[in-house]
Amino acid sequence: MSEFARRIVVVGTGYVGLTTGACLASLGHRVICADVDRAKVERLQAGQIDIREPGLGEMVGEMLAAGRLSFVTGARTALEELRRDGAQCEVLFVCVPTPMGIGGIADLSAVEAVIDEVREVLPAGAIVVNKSTVPVGTGERTAELIDRPDIAVVSNPEFLREGSGVYDFLHPDRIIVGSNAQDAAERVAALYARLGAPTVLTDLASAEMIKYAANCFLATKLSYVNAIAELCERLGADVADVTEGLGYDKRIGQSYLSPGPGWGGSCLPKDTAALLQLSDSVDFEFRLLRAAIETNTRQSRRIVEKIQAAVTGKRNGSLSRARIALLGLAFKAGTSDLRDSPALAVAAQLRQAGAELLAFDPAITAEDSSFDGDLLTVVDDPYVAAKDADAIVILTEWPEFRGLDWRRLATVVKRPLVLDTRNIVDPDVLRRAGFSWSAVGRPPRM
Ligand code: NAD
Repeated sequence: MSEFARRIVVVGTGYVGLTTGACLASLGHRVICADVDRAKVERLQAGQIDIREPGLGEMVGEMLAAGRLSFVTGARTALEELRRDGAQCEVLFVCVPTPMGIGGIADLSAVEAVIDEVREVLPAGAIVVNKSTVPVGTGERTAELIDRPDIAVVSNPEFLREGSGVYDFLHPDRIIVGSNAQDAAERVAALYARLGAPTVLTDLASAEMIKYAANCFLATKLSYVNAIAELCERLGADVADVTEGLGYDKRIGQSYLSPGPGWGGSCLPKDTAALLQLSDSVDFEFRLLRAAIETNTRQSRRIVEKIQAAVTGKRNGSLSRARIALLGLAFKAGTSDLRDSPALAVAAQLRQAGAELLAFDPAITAEDSSFDGDLLTVVDDPYVAAKDADAIVILTEWPEFRGLDWRRLATVVKRPLVLDTRNIVDPDVLRRAGFSWSAVGRPPRM
């Protein structure tokens, strides 16, 4: 082990924890990952990973073989294992879930459980680094909970995107490290030195705020684009050209500029709700953020009304005799994550309007899906999903949907109608195949 290599414990082996553990091992550190889920730990020990992340499975396998990465059940076990080997944990990363709790408040019970588990057994001089997204003030509270002057607390929020986690971790736009103990912040920043990324060293509260400010800005940008798309529909403009023209402006940029069925996933909904709740708690009326959230709630309703109008001719028409094929269920392409997926929000409202739903998603198989059969049926073939459908609705921007045999799909459906909520399939291809098409923010064509 080089003199720069550190002994690291990572708690939580989900999207953030597993990627962090494997990537830090690949940077030369010795990493033990801990999780409460014993069955998951056993799969990881055998080199099997549950999540769809390019390069992660290979990296985990290589690091296991190199002896730089291992998996155990329980954070305390990780610390004990290191001590048994005559080593000490220098840095402990907390990468556990912080889901939306009652009233939008972030549920910190998993973070607190980890702190409770390790506080007495952390070796003197260890640094506790929080990578979970937590409300401003959590770092200070963590230090109070640990209540040991020999342990420093650092906030090091994570910005990776699901579906490109390894790449994002190794090529970050920036590294944020916040602490009220500067030497601890510098030691954590040094773990990433080989990445050569711009690094912002700051205090705990500012580091925690940067993560919320970033996610809430992205959510607001998407709501803004969805509102512009609706205006385009009403005024006869084409949002595809509008966003292309907008995005070339370097002050705006091309990313997070695609309209759709609403933003979702495991981060934006809970982080916007948490910042709004935090604003309320200090008597700040964050109108802009509230409007972004409300615009998003309305977006899935608007999509459902478009489907109702296309199928029944009425904005609120009953879909009780309609069969709808859904293409895509994951909250975005490249992942199988269904948490707070806008596709499921649309599906639930379609079901409520009486529709029968068959769904296909390249990352979700009929066997591994845990859907309530009353909401929808998952099938493993898009042509089966489309059989006898009154409409095909594209809900996730999987690039493979562009390459489907649309002529064949036109022969299996009951009515040749496509609503492309992600604006990804060329309308001319659909028109030539015999479909009538509508999208979000684009003028309709027959
Ligand atoms: P996840 O649900 O994929 O994984 C969390 C893991 O933590 C699970 O394996 C769970 O079993 C484990 N866990 C729960 N309680 C535990 C405990 N007490 N001890 C040990 N392990 C425990 O979550 P995630 O998506 O990796 O998110 C983790 C945090 O990172 C959240 O705060 C999230 O907001 C933030 N984050 C997520 C992303 C993302 O794209 N998913 C990106 C940036 C930040």
